Amino acid sequence: MIPYGRQDISQADINSVIEVLQSEFLTQGPKVPEFEAALASYCSARYAVAVNSATSALHLACLALGVGKGDVVWTTPITFVASANCALYCGASVDFVDIDSKTYNMSAGALEEKLVKAEKLGVLPKVVIAVHLSGQSCEMVKISALSKQYGFKIIEDASHAIGGRYKGLPIGGGQYSDITIFSFHPVKIITTGEGGAALTNNEFLADKMKCLRSHGVTRDPSLMTKEPDGEWYYQQLELGYNYRMTDLQAALGLSQLSRLDSFVSKRHEIAAIYDKELAELPLALPWQHPDTYSGLHLYIIRLKSTDVSHQVLFSELRAKGIGVNLHYIPVYMQPFYQAMGFTRGYCEEAESYYREAISLPIYTGLQRSEQSQVVSALVDALR
Ligand SMILES: *Cc1c(COP(=O)(O)O)cnc(C)c1O
Repeated sequence: MIPYGRQDISQADINSVIEVLQSEFLTQGPKVPEFEAALASYCSARYAVAVNSATSALHLACLALGVGKGDVVWTTPITFVASANCALYCGASVDFVDIDSKTYNMSAGALEEKLVKAEKLGVLPKVVIAVHLSGQSCEMVKISALSKQYGFKIIEDASHAIGGRYKGLPIGGGQYSDITIFSFHPVKIITTGEGGAALTNNEFLADKMKCLRSHGVTRDPSLMTKEPDGEWYYQQLELGYNYRMTDLQAALGLSQLSRLDSFVSKRHEIAAIYDKELAELPLALPWQHPDTYSGLHLYIIRLKSTDVSHQVLFSELRAKGIGVNLHYIPVYMQPFYQAMGFTRGYCEEAESYYREAISLPIYTGLQRSEQSQVVSALVDALR
């Protein structure tokens, strides 16, 4: 099976992990701060906080922004469940804003309409989580202007988008949001096995997330409520977690980060071939907003034929060893969310996307011959 995505591990990546295995520290050593500094520098952000997954990063980001009981967090339905679950971890509730018909990201227009209504009802969101689907940035200028008008904070879920750009600047630089999070799961653009990071330009938010990722404990005397009792002293200031990244993961991340630009270029080469070879088929190919340079984590097509059903196309491609996938089932259509009262038809654009979307294989190791197999299989199925 040709998968829809997979990691790219070089000998240099392997060597960097082995080096840590032979060193003094497997965790809480020098590699995590080194990786954080490299991430911050790559994205032109002031602070990066590395953690054990993007899910943890989303949780810490919500906590740092003060999300709690009685608050509402808004996100898009076309995302992985983690983008919504993080609000529930904090005791807040979640609501969904419909997507744009061209980018499949949260629609800035739909967001504005929903804000107007929410203001009248007195139920404005505390935080909006903008997800850069497939690696293409949301319309952050518009969303950021709305945040100032309506007083909400912004988290960018850039799990798909490291290495991408918005208006010429790296995603993660925080020009239009409070916190940006990345995922380093093996299917994503760079990997640490499991892992994630939260980037911000705000020192308070960075300190808060660093404290919370390690039990809410500090060894920094300047943050303590009293003089240390002695050299051994530490204080727990709040209820935190163990969301730490290991030095093994950070070493892999550092090595992968040095290859990031070449990864993204390769993804663009693969996408350009699909763009060309699928142009005549009854499909909507990925549309790129001129303000964006996508990380291209995903190459999503939409079926525009009435002759072939979505399900049939899926099974035909899978039967031919093409590991197509669907990103994503609208989050509120999950049984867990349906039990919270969300019903079918809640976001029409998202549901129509769900009836048509297919993610084709795209990853740096995808061979030209394999890509031709994908194209032929699609041509056969749609002819
Ligand atoms: C993968 C992903 C996550 C979760 O990432 P983990 O590192 O696996 O926790 C969150 N949001 C989106 C959009 C993702 O694609």
